[in-house]
Amino acid sequence: VGHERAEFLTSLFRSIKGFPKEGINFRDFMPVLENAEGLQIMLEGLEKALPIPADEFDSVAGLEARGFLFGPALAARLGKGFIAVRKAGKLPPEVIGEDYTLEYGTARVEVEADAVSRGERVLIVDDLIATGGTAKAAADLIRKCGGTVAGFSFVMQLEGLSGIEELGDYPTSTLVSMP
Ligand code: AMP
Repeated sequence: VGHERAEFLTSLFRSIKGFPKEGINFRDFMPVLENAEGLQIMLEGLEKALPIPADEFDSVAGLEARGFLFGPALAARLGKGFIAVRKAGKLPPEVIGEDYTLEYGTARVEVEADAVSRGERVLIVDDLIATGGTAKAAADLIRKCGGTVAGFSFVMQLEGLSGIEELGDYPTSTLVSMP
C-alpha cells in the first residue's frame, strides 16, 4: 500500500479496550469504511497486495459479518463472484457447514450447498485475523464443498498471535498490523 497509506489506514481503526469483554482490545474497522479515502486505500491495497495473481483464483469468499462489507466490492473490482460464509442458522437449506472450536465453546459456519463448484479456487477474505480459528474454519468449509483454497487476504493482522501460521501453507496477505 505504501508506508503513508498504510499508516493512514491504521489510524482509521478505532480501538476499544474491554469490548466485547474484558481483556479484548477491539479493533473497530467501521471508520475505514466511513472514510472515502480509507475505503479506496483499503480496496486498492487489497487488490495490489493480492497473495496470488487474480487469474489464479475464481471467486472471493467473505466471512460474516465484516468480510461481507468489502468482499463483494473487492470481488467486483476483480471481476469475480462472491461467496458468503455465514454463521449457523441464517441460510435456508441446503447448506454445508463446518463446526469449529472457540476459546469458549464451539461455533459453526455455513455456505449454500451449491455456492462452491468442484475445483473452484477461492480467495478467503476478512477484516481481521487474530487466532486464525475463524479463517481456518472457512478454509475447511471451502474444501468440504469441493473447492480449493487459493489464499487469504486480511485488512488487519493482530501481532503476537500466530493466526497466519494456523492457516497452514497458503499464500496470505495483510495490509496493516497492530498489537
Ligand atoms: P480469530 O478467529 O481469532 O482469528 O478471530 C477473527 C474474527 O474475530 C474476525 O472475524 C474478526 O473480525 C474478529 N476479531 C477477533 N479479534 C478481534 C479484535 N481484537 N477486534 C476486532 N475484531 C476481532
